[in-house]
Amino acid sequence: MSKIAAYQKCINPACGATFDCMQTLFECPQCGDLLDICYEWDKTEVPAKLSDFAKRWPNRLNRLDFSGVWRFRELLNFCPDEKKISVGEGQTILQQACGLAAELGMNPHNLFLQYEGMNPSGSFKDNGMTAAFSHAAMVKAVSSACASTGNTSAAMALYAKACGLKATVFIGAGKIAYGKLSQAMDYGAYTIQIQGDFDDCMRQVQDVCRKMNIYLVNSLNPFRLEGQKTIMYRILEGLNWQIPDWIIAPGGNLGNSSSFGKAFWELKALGLIDRVPRLAIINAAGANTLTELVNDHKLRWNNSHIDNAKINAYYGKLDAAGYKPHTIASAIEISRPVNLKKCLRALDVCNGIVRSVTDAEILDAKAQIGKFGLGCEPASAATIAGLKYLLADGTIGKDERIACVLTGHVLKDPDATVNYHSKKQGPFANAPVQAPNDLDKIIALMKA
Ligand SMILES: *Cc1c(COP(=O)(O)O)cnc(C)c1O
Ligand SMILES: [Zn+2]
Repeated sequence: MSKIAAYQKCINPACGATFDCMQTLFECPQCGDLLDICYEWDKTEVPAKLSDFAKRWPNRLNRLDFSGVWRFRELLNFCPDEKKISVGEGQTILQQACGLAAELGMNPHNLFLQYEGMNPSGSFKDNGMTAAFSHAAMVKAVSSACASTGNTSAAMALYAKACGLKATVFIGAGKIAYGKLSQAMDYGAYTIQIQGDFDDCMRQVQDVCRKMNIYLVNSLNPFRLEGQKTIMYRILEGLNWQIPDWIIAPGGNLGNSSSFGKAFWELKALGLIDRVPRLAIINAAGANTLTELVNDHKLRWNNSHIDNAKINAYYGKLDAAGYKPHTIASAIEISRPVNLKKCLRALDVCNGIVRSVTDAEILDAKAQIGKFGLGCEPASAATIAGLKYLLADGTIGKDERIACVLTGHVLKDPDATVNYHSKKQGPFANAPVQAPNDLDKIIALMKA
């Protein structure tokens, strides 16, 4: 294993403070801004080509080689091997979606779905949690907490058990899909249901972690985002190390999109790729802070000189109106995305764009994805709903190669699925047919 040469750095250019990785921080103690994990690459032995990483995959008996996160360990080299936690995360593959592509009028060979629902807790969050809990183990944390719309809590509870930490979940009352809540309870997390929404939980959990010195595993945690970079490495792996034209991801707290941008600029800087794909981030219309700030208010990364006044004015208006986000896609029902600034940087790096889609469009897209045998939860389907817009307005060409990140498993939110089909909420509904308990009539129905 190569030498560990990583440190934490504040993203605010006016501050730029740096901190050792043995410090537990989820914000810059000097200015309060977000932190990045940075690497001294010249001190790390990074493989000469990306295909070298794939050689580890068949090595099932080495738990780190077999992990879809840690087989890329030189690209997130902040933690000694013996501290790394793995429960077999990242065994996800890029699936070619020919039927869906044809239905969308695309070249059928060019649409791919990265099904992160296949992770141990059923969402992409495990990629980040394995990294965060490895760091937690490294700094000898004893107790962890998160605010969650559901999947973060499921992943946290699972990884906390794997390494013996206490886990406390803050969820908004009535704001969680049952499949997810059931996991947090089953894995033994202490669950506190707060009278409020996700944004309220997010504020409370930060104060609790500051006051009680608890390890925060929301995506403010810069180590978590390091693990999520590997979703992009696996997409490249699935394309035999070719670069797709577009990555499409849903936008909630914007940790995923932030980490994707970081993954690509680091690979480019290391000379491991020669171009960066474009990034499309899809919001739900009822939680579209990013869309409004970027498309309407023209908020930009601006070489790290972000116009904070625009952000503050926007949030001021939300406060004044008592605004609460609302969407069926509970995983992205967030109006104050904590990684907003890092996401602006990812948009800059990847020449990215942002769109919003309605709940009805999300549910239709979800049913279309499901129809071809690869389900997902509503937030994940925002990708395909967004892709339809981008194809229609010519932003994405029919022959471009696209990888959509399906962030969560179809069984996470069975209510949304059952309601769509049984209540015939859209053109792709596949409702059950009622039959009498009579063989002839059943056969007649099956011939119909
Ligand atoms: C957390 C989550 C999201 C949102 O990801 P961010 O990184 O917060 O933008 C989207 N889909 C699912 C299924 C999630 O669990
Ligand atoms: Zn700072």
